[in-house]
Amino acid sequence: MMESTVLEDKQLVFTHPNSFLVMNAKNLLDINRINAEVRNEFSVGAVGELSFVDVWPELWVNRWQAAKAKDVLADIECDLSSGMWCCCNCKEENEVSFESCWSCSQDRADD
Ligand SMILES: [Zn+2]
Repeated sequence: MMESTVLEDKQLVFTHPNSFLVMNAKNLLDINRINAEVRNEFSVGAVGELSFVDVWPELWVNRWQAAKAKDVLADIECDLSSGMWCCCNCKEENEVSFESCWSCSQDRADD
């Protein structure tokens, strides 16, 4: 039987519609020896009873590690190693597949 962990001991530190990015963030926390729990991992893109519109995968950590977790994750917020890139013009984040900024049409710059 699966008993769910008591919620008040945990804190949400990261959520993103792309579950790959969430797992990436989890790996980063693992490296920093922060034990993260993924919730809603399989909800995104599910067809059927769950609406995926407002159910994103979430990373939860023990409350006493939340501050450090946020610190770790802050480093990747604008530099997600899976390939999000930050527009040098307007600072918006763009998917790796975009060759120019969705917001201001600035070409993606390599430096
Ligand atoms: Zn831009």
